[in-house]
Amino acid sequence: MNFKRLLGKPVSDNIYLNINDKVTKLRSKNIVPKLSVILIGNDSASKIYVNTKKKKFLQMQCSSEIYHLEDNVDQKNIIKLIHRLNSDKDTHGILIQLPLPKHFNSNKILKEINPDKDVDGFHPENLGCLLSGNPNFIPCTPYGCIEILKYYNIKVKSKHVVIVGRSNIVGKPLFALLSQKFSIGNATVTICHSHTKNLSKFTRNADILITAIGKPEFITKDMVKDDVVVLDVGINRIDDSSDRGYHIVGDVNYHDVCSKASAITPVPGGIGPMTIAMLLFNTVQSAENSSI
Ligand code: NDP
Repeated sequence: MNFKRLLGKPVSDNIYLNINDKVTKLRSKNIVPKLSVILIGNDSASKIYVNTKKKKFLQMQCSSEIYHLEDNVDQKNIIKLIHRLNSDKDTHGILIQLPLPKHFNSNKILKEINPDKDVDGFHPENLGCLLSGNPNFIPCTPYGCIEILKYYNIKVKSKHVVIVGRSNIVGKPLFALLSQKFSIGNATVTICHSHTKNLSKFTRNADILITAIGKPEFITKDMVKDDVVVLDVGINRIDDSSDRGYHIVGDVNYHDVCSKASAITPVPGGIGPMTIAMLLFNTVQSAENSSI
């Protein structure tokens, strides 16, 4: 088969190498990069995600603390905790594990994080900085996509990038990044969503197709052109009869699209490993900023 698998692991390993040096320097000044995570409720996937993050932070000689609150907690108390962490000099990054239980106002809560500790990059001030071409913290999954494109030397300039999905955490920041006058940018970017008419007309036109939809194997080979580069952000759980009881697939029908694509990120193993790597990167960056 004439295509390239864009694996996340070598890219994230490279990032970890770089982080390692920075952490050693910070620790020599008695600074240990620390992420404080606020987890609300008992969603099992969210619990797995925060524990995975904690494990990786510890592995990288950084620190991570989880504040687990019940889903009946008063929103005022969440905000109080955020304010406490904003002024805690040992905390360099604050992360609210999303999605929050539906009765909370995520936007209102995220706005309370000090933008200088907003290592997820979701604060409106940081999203505004990104949009105006002067990013502070770049949201981790879109940042991971950019690092994959950079590592595999995939040219973006003057290409037509089609993004399917317009969430604040993936689609919109990617649009902002790839359309800027950045080294990995200067693309012509189209963003599609659930109200896009005749989606295939756009996806078939993509030199680079990025999917963040949340629909298993939604993109098939008839929806892409020959030699397309595909970044599949989707993570979808499919129940099965394995011991684990499920397996993970992306938004792209990998085996189908492989026959046409020149390069593609597998799921799992593609974009997935990049998100935690970029979270660590941003937290270490914040710790460095605090040491100046
Ligand atoms: P959201 O549900 O917030 O957004 C999904 C987007 O897809 C929306 O913009 C929606 O359109 C669009 N969409 C839904 N159905 C269609 C359709 N039939 N045709 C075109 N567009 C459609 O999801 P997220 O952005 O949070 O996540 C997307 C996927 O990425 C999920 O599978 C998630 O698990 C995964 N993810 C993976 C990460 C990683 O680390 N690899 C990190 C974050 C997310 P509309 O706006 O009109 O509703």
